Amino acid sequence: MKVRVDAELCTGCGPCAEVCPEVFEIRDDVSTVLVPEVPPEREAAVREAAEACPTEAIIIEEG
Ligand code: SF4
Repeated sequence: MKVRVDAELCTGCGPCAEVCPEVFEIRDDVSTVLVPEVPPEREAAVREAAEACPTEAIIIEEG
């Protein structure tokens, strides 16, 4: 699984970093992906973060 954040959609509101701080960090009011190649043990938390994102800025690519 790969993940990225659409910086145009991201408002820097923070739920992604609260749900999965190992992968998302808010820097300069935008969520930054720390680990674009998500390890299997983090996949559930990344999906949860994507569901928690109010602007659907978190883009998951399966595989
Ligand atoms: S939850 Fe979504 S909009 Fe909010 S900081 Fe995270 S990626 Fe950006």
